[in-house]
Amino acid sequence: MTFSSFAPPVRTLMGPGPSDVDPRVLAAMSRPIIGHLDPAFIAMMEEVREMMRYAFQTQNALTLPISAPGSAGMEACFANLVEPGDKVIVCINGVFGGRMKENVERCGGTAIVVEDDWGQPVSPAKVEAALAEHPDARILAFVHAETSTGACSDVQALCELAHRHGCLSLVDTVTSLGGSPLHVDDWGVDAVYSGSQKCLSCTPGLSPVSFSEAAIERIRTRRTRVQSWFLDMNLVMGYWIGAGGKRAYHHTAPVNALYALHEALVILHEEGLEASWARHQRHHQALRAGIEAMGLRFLVDAPHRLPQLNAILVPDGVDEAAVRKALLDHYSLEIGAGLGPYAGRIWRIGLMGQAANERNVLLCLSALESVLADMGAVSSGQAVPAAHAAYRGAAQAKAA
Ligand SMILES: *Cc1c(COP(=O)(O)O)cnc(C)c1O
Repeated sequence: MTFSSFAPPVRTLMGPGPSDVDPRVLAAMSRPIIGHLDPAFIAMMEEVREMMRYAFQTQNALTLPISAPGSAGMEACFANLVEPGDKVIVCINGVFGGRMKENVERCGGTAIVVEDDWGQPVSPAKVEAALAEHPDARILAFVHAETSTGACSDVQALCELAHRHGCLSLVDTVTSLGGSPLHVDDWGVDAVYSGSQKCLSCTPGLSPVSFSEAAIERIRTRRTRVQSWFLDMNLVMGYWIGAGGKRAYHHTAPVNALYALHEALVILHEEGLEASWARHQRHHQALRAGIEAMGLRFLVDAPHRLPQLNAILVPDGVDEAAVRKALLDHYSLEIGAGLGPYAGRIWRIGLMGQAANERNVLLCLSALESVLADMGAVSSGQAVPAAHAAYRGAAQAKAA
């Protein structure tokens, strides 16, 4: 048997992540490897941490990328903050809230679940009732941008409730970071994790995390050791931040992956965070115009919709998997399937990071409309003109 180099097909990635990556990020990744304690590498790491503070809008000293995907950032937050016997209020309105509950239980904590229907944001009223009913709860955990449904929850309101009831807030921002307004300090987020491959448009495999002073204090005063050696922040800090100017070897940092994150953060910084948020919104509005012109509907009500994750209801009688296969085979375009109760019932169209651009929106609309028109599900010629009109309207509003 012989093997040859792997040549991946060129795709347009408009699913729930990974998203399209800027060629600059891939170029950064292919630069020469250096030692993970090399002074040049350490200087780059400091820039990564500084630019992460900008992306999160925080001054938190303990801000760093975990050397593993978003799920590891989630695990790092729970493993460090939850001790056996702790009560944690966990909001579930999709897949990722469910994983938070798993994490709490595996840390020996008790999860008090606040449930909302998939497609709805987390209800502050239900959270307030749970906090009042469980005054001994120590943490409130929820997902900002629920990628399984495209619903956005109110971080500021939920963190305020947590603090009023003496809880720390622990927030999943994997899909929101870089794509939707997020103000970690102003909104009072105590522990936050994200991922590299969604709106940061980097390659997968890194998880930016940040902890407030109150969260660090909680970690310092634990009665028990963090049960995960790899994710124990006390040890991770020894490498990323060091003590007395000395950095201790903990694990070998994924050097080239960190070059990629550095470049992705430089790109975000060049564009500006607010401009990036506005860009996601602009392309979402154009996509929305085209989707609605085809007669398709969104799962989530407009006020709670994420611009970067568009959950579209599959029309009756349409085989959703056949549509995704046609998009991939004929247009090399990837969109996402539904999960859980929405498996087979929604498509998830991502407009994450670099993927949020006019070319992608028009490609996706025309391709989806062609495929659906071939199946007799929609009439053709509606979607692209509607998106064009939305872009024209946005341009005129900007000029006025
Ligand atoms: C993608 C995602 C994760 C998990 O990130 P991985 O990098 O796939 O491990 C966690 N939470 C949310 C909301 C996500 O969208």
